[in-house]
Amino acid sequence: LLALFAIGTTQAQNKKAMDKKQDIEKKIDALMAKMTLEEKVGQMNQYNGFWDVTGPSPKEGSAALKYEHLRKGWVGSMLTVRGVKEVRAVQKIAVEETRLGIPLIIGFDVIHGYKTLSPIPFAEAASWDMDAIRKSAEVAAGEASASGINWTFGPMVDISRDARWGRVMEGAGEDPYLGSKVAAARVKGFQGDDLSQPTTIAACAKHFAGYGFIEGGRDYNTVDMGNATLFNTVLPPFKAAKEAGVRTFMNAFNLLNGVPATGNSFLQRDILKGKWGFDGFVITDWASIREMIAHGFAKDGAEASLKAITAGADMDMESHLYVSELVKLVNDGKVDVKLIDDAVRRILRVKFELGLFDDPYRYCDEKREAATIGSKANRDAVLDMAKKSIVLLKNEKNLLPLKKNGQKIALIGALANDKTSPLGSWRIASQDETAISVLEGMQQYKGNTLTYEKGGEAYLGKPTFLTEVAWNTTDRSGFEAAKKAAAAADVVVMVLGEHGFQSGEGRSRTNLDLPGLQQELLEEVYKVNPNVVLVLNNGRPLALPWAAEHIPAIVEAWQLGTETGNAVAQVLYGDYNPSGKLPMSFPRNVGQVPIYYNQHSTGRPTDADNNVFWSHYSDVEKTPLFAFGYGLSYTTFKYGTIKLDKKTYANGEPVKVSVEVTNTGNYDGKEVVQLYIRDIAASLSRPVKELKGFELVPLKKGETKTVTFTLSDNELGFYNNNGDYLVEPGVFKVFVGTSSVDTQEAEFELR
Ligand code: BGC
Repeated sequence: LLALFAIGTTQAQNKKAMDKKQDIEKKIDALMAKMTLEEKVGQMNQYNGFWDVTGPSPKEGSAALKYEHLRKGWVGSMLTVRGVKEVRAVQKIAVEETRLGIPLIIGFDVIHGYKTLSPIPFAEAASWDMDAIRKSAEVAAGEASASGINWTFGPMVDISRDARWGRVMEGAGEDPYLGSKVAAARVKGFQGDDLSQPTTIAACAKHFAGYGFIEGGRDYNTVDMGNATLFNTVLPPFKAAKEAGVRTFMNAFNLLNGVPATGNSFLQRDILKGKWGFDGFVITDWASIREMIAHGFAKDGAEASLKAITAGADMDMESHLYVSELVKLVNDGKVDVKLIDDAVRRILRVKFELGLFDDPYRYCDEKREAATIGSKANRDAVLDMAKKSIVLLKNEKNLLPLKKNGQKIALIGALANDKTSPLGSWRIASQDETAISVLEGMQQYKGNTLTYEKGGEAYLGKPTFLTEVAWNTTDRSGFEAAKKAAAAADVVVMVLGEHGFQSGEGRSRTNLDLPGLQQELLEEVYKVNPNVVLVLNNGRPLALPWAAEHIPAIVEAWQLGTETGNAVAQVLYGDYNPSGKLPMSFPRNVGQVPIYYNQHSTGRPTDADNNVFWSHYSDVEKTPLFAFGYGLSYTTFKYGTIKLDKKTYANGEPVKVSVEVTNTGNYDGKEVVQLYIRDIAASLSRPVKELKGFELVPLKKGETKTVTFTLSDNELGFYNNNGDYLVEPGVFKVFVGTSSVDTQEAEFELR
């Protein structure tokens, strides 16, 4: 009876959703019937809000023009409008001064929080905790929406295997399976279950597609890739975002095999809107229609607009070309008005779903803005996420957790006393020095004697999103004091790494070391006291072979956002037992990049040490320094023997894999149990290992749990070079373990 009741309820819910959908389409029909071509094209135009819209009529030329366009109803969206007051002002013009009063959709880069910042997205991925990641996006949506925003340009779901690329900080790392889970969690967190709630915002899967594979890791560079990688590595997280209901996509700056993503019909029309049936809209990346001229793909703005709309780009971000070119292109018979109608319908659909037509000011609530932003609840939530994002890379000599009493601790490193760098990049609404520093976090533990020494300036001046970080490369005058403090301490905690603005857009590096004099400082301090705990701050994998060999304890603390210092201190003092695992391989040196675990076999035989003959480097091991999926805990976990419920399975039959995991150490903890497969022989070579399942398992001291994974068609297949998904019979290996390199294996056959 209960089951019947449940079916009945779902049916009723489905009907309600269908009715709502139909109702929206009818409203769009009615509205579009009234719209002129100019007004339609206006919906496809997005301007930024860097001009003072609440002030007197803007004087500056382009701003004045934007103002005029807004009044005419030639602007469908604005981005980076700051705060309820400003949003209300522009929305008022759209709603009250234009002929049809169509509300704007207000976009913003809410990348890892709005004002209360959670860890950078890459760090969050290291938690492997989908509930926490969803919650983090929900908190971000809560704050952003309270500030008038109804759409974020996130999540970035680009897979990347290149640590030189600064934008890995915005993604979820190198793996398409983990990346897909994270993408779905973020979309659900931003959008909630009901987009029409004023606390949820529309999400945007970006950058469609291939951006993470730019050559040499240099931002905006060329992308050339085969279909095997495109279909199996790059597209899955986008598809997962689509399936999680994401309402918008952003295309990309890069060329994909010679065709700019923005003018790419294969991506936007054939795959996204065709095969996947996506019915939301595609926004271009910033001025990416115009960049097609520089790419040598269009001779002028008119041709660029023609190519972009033909390829399926619905809304123009800051090229200012749709608004100036599309009307003429339609009137000259070069663009079919049906393409315009389709784009406008998609944009209006999302506006209706957001409830903007019911009440355009529903996101403009000053009281909610004041109460929500920076609330205790939000700070608690980002602290929780920050702790979950930390990865313990090494812990020898029992250095960690630190003892709470009677110890002399020397804290060293300018980044330890930094209140801006830990906020990371992409934090447009939160420019201030609002992070709790590691020093402030450590000071709360009063049972020890804490001495702080900077060791000199790490970097100079005040780096910003737009200015490069200038590192101190000459002044060693702070070294002596640091060494003196270290010599007098029982344990030295050193906070070193990259500045928050060293990763993010346009922040590529060719070195993956500790910039400036930090490596030298580390070695000097180590000489006087080898009991060093190294706390790393970075927005990408670093290559730190010396530290990995010499430093007894290493804590990967990324850029953890507003609550950085509290999170780090609680982990160092053992009030939180770390459980993060790396979402991307850490190389031994830059020359190994791209290095990733789910590679294909070279075909060369392997010896007992797993060294592929000839396919190696003469000067360094070919393995990563720290592997994908790796991370330690203060406790220890023991794995039982991997078990399969059968040896052979009929195609379509679920494969059940189980393993017992026991907490054998002295602390309660959590372990990310990972499952990988290898399809031994297939019509397309399959990687030597592919993540296909994971579970974050809490285990009390001494506790044992059985973890069971179910593999079905979704996990066992792959895409061929035509983009068709195939599950092929044959023998599979299945691996279960604590990281991509520390696994045990079994075999089964799919008939
Ligand atoms: C970035 C996008 C971002 C947009 C708007 C572009 O430069 O590539 O990811 O959403 O700017 O700020």
